[in-house]
Amino acid sequence: MTVALDTDIKRLSGVGSAVGARLQKLGITTVGSLLYHFPRAYEFRGNIKTVASAEDGETASFVLTVTAPPTYAKTRSGLMIFKVPAGDGTGVCTVTFFNQAYIKNTLIAGVSYRFYGKVSRHGKHVELHSPVYEPYSETLLPLYPVYPATEGFSSVRINKLVSAIIDRADTVIPENLPAEVIEAERLMSRTEAIRTIHHPSSLEAIADAKRRLAFEELFGFALNARRQRKTEDGLPRAPFHKCDCSAFKNAVGFEFTNAQKRVMNEIYADLTSEDGRAPMRRMVSGDVGSGKTVCAQFAAYVAAENGYQTALMAPTEILARQHYEDCKKLFSALGKTVCLLVSDIPAKKKNEVFECLASGECDLVIGTHALITDKVNFKNLGLVVCDEQHRFGVGQREALLKKGEGSHMLVMSATPIPRTLALVLFGDLDVSVIDEMPPGRRTVRTAYRDEESRDKIYDFIKAQVKEGRQAYIVCPGIEETEDDGLIPLEALSADFSPDSYNKQVKKRKAAVNYAETLSTEVFPDLRVGYLHGKMKGVQKSAVMKAFERGELDILVSTTVIEVGINVPNASVMLVEDADCFGLSQLHQLRGRVGRGKYASYCILMANDPGQNAVSRLKIMERENNGYKIAEFDLKQRGPGDFIRDNGEKIRQHGALKLRMAGALDDAQLLYRAFEWAEKYTSEDGNAARIFN
Ligand code: ADP
Ligand code: MG
Repeated sequence: MTVALDTDIKRLSGVGSAVGARLQKLGITTVGSLLYHFPRAYEFRGNIKTVASAEDGETASFVLTVTAPPTYAKTRSGLMIFKVPAGDGTGVCTVTFFNQAYIKNTLIAGVSYRFYGKVSRHGKHVELHSPVYEPYSETLLPLYPVYPATEGFSSVRINKLVSAIIDRADTVIPENLPAEVIEAERLMSRTEAIRTIHHPSSLEAIADAKRRLAFEELFGFALNARRQRKTEDGLPRAPFHKCDCSAFKNAVGFEFTNAQKRVMNEIYADLTSEDGRAPMRRMVSGDVGSGKTVCAQFAAYVAAENGYQTALMAPTEILARQHYEDCKKLFSALGKTVCLLVSDIPAKKKNEVFECLASGECDLVIGTHALITDKVNFKNLGLVVCDEQHRFGVGQREALLKKGEGSHMLVMSATPIPRTLALVLFGDLDVSVIDEMPPGRRTVRTAYRDEESRDKIYDFIKAQVKEGRQAYIVCPGIEETEDDGLIPLEALSADFSPDSYNKQVKKRKAAVNYAETLSTEVFPDLRVGYLHGKMKGVQKSAVMKAFERGELDILVSTTVIEVGINVPNASVMLVEDADCFGLSQLHQLRGRVGRGKYASYCILMANDPGQNAVSRLKIMERENNGYKIAEFDLKQRGPGDFIRDNGEKIRQHGALKLRMAGALDDAQLLYRAFEWAEKYTSEDGNAARIFN
């Protein structure tokens, strides 16, 4: 039976309007979106433990033979408790259930079952509480899917719906990749991949399914981006002519770096191109402090010389004000008018700005999303600049672009990402890279240290605080989680080992718990705060402000501090379990210190990492160029980290959600997906190769 993916989910048997509404909350509206609602994790039921080795509190699988019929008793609160005696030869175990009278008929003495559940152990006495169970056979699947679920619709029920479709032997899901691509890339068919991702038969199979589904995502994503680009080719463009830029060059107080010159040349060529090409759509990517602003200012200057206005949109009011001060200095020397538009300026002042924009008197306006409100009208907007582009949705950008006709666009991104990768991930933008820092930058001294140095490092932090500095301590997790036995989809690969995974995850430091330990045991005299992504917005900003004002000495945090914090007084960063992070991410994190006039340090700690991890971390000691680090990361770990870290940004460019691709460890696969997409969008059908 061929599955019609666009079938309304409510037409499935068992799905009425109430269930339909719950599913919609999960983004499931059609059969297709149900099948693409992938498990977030798997219960690893195939990892069978023995009763003798069962540990208190763990969640695990056991193959047990029921030794006698269940006994039952009533608890004081009126619950029926059923106890089933069972064993596996290494020990005996009591399996308990509450109020489930039917187990008398489903758990038969003398039969073996695979149980999966939570262990409680007191000495020799082992119990399993309300485990799931299935009659044991060699062919039981080792991995059981766990879905993102919602209140009123559990993972188990999602699994039932999915199973009803994919468990039919004759189910066929229409293929959406060209046959030659499947063959050349040795990919699973779509049907097999969907089946496998929901009901994997082995770790190898799941790795293959992920590969196929990641390829499919990337291919679709690339096709979209290519097509979008093609439709823009017909757009009108604000015509900019070549102009004399020497006044601009002289007004800027420094020599441009070679990278800046190159990028400005690229921008200039885009802006003044007269051959009927689409308006400029360019991303300038450069490390924090690499000098992107002057490139944007240059573009605004070219626009103004052509009689066009520029709007620069910054994600926060603070950033907008900073840009405004900067630009006002430069542009008033050049005889241009600069305005600021943020939400909390007085209404009267705002109206003046509106008038200034409508009359054309203002050459450059800098603001937050206050810029996209209806009241803002331009005389002739010719250029839109978005700083820190990932904070804006594509809708916001488009809204601003629409205020002009054929406006050019420049987006500035502070995430160093290899050019090759940026080209494919931001397929609808051209990419310029500033991979060089202005001279005289202080670097953050970085060192890898192991557990033996812990006390010394704590002392070092104390000494820095004593001198008036502040410190960041970064942890990979938020709270120590109970071992739920789940293996996230992302972590699974063909060579996955549950034991080493558990070991690795369990030892990780968690911000909340660690902050507690630090403030009571390690730094009792210091002011320690914590910050993580699950905190409410107001809570978060209260903590950030306290740290900014110097009311906290130490900020324990997850990676949320990557963006948005600027505390020049912070001089040390300690990263715990540094081996859990990608190098690019470490580099981004480290950019939070060394922003003031103080010598700054970044210490990367790892608890018993492998030799590979150590040599990876040591790269951070000697390399400061974000692009070189990113290249290395890409080679070693593949593009998954970048795709995940840039998820928001990428999602804005294509309608697709890159889910599988975030787990991708093979850069070549990514490039090939894009090559194929290129081939299928080029008019003549011939491969126009963009990569060699
Ligand atoms: P970012 O890329 O993070 O936006 P900015 O454009 O804000 O960086 O530049 C950071 C600082 O470096 C600014 O104070 C800027 O004036 C200065 N700067 C930029 N380019 C140069 C250069 N070529 N030489 C010296 N200083 C520069
Ligand atoms: Mg900047």
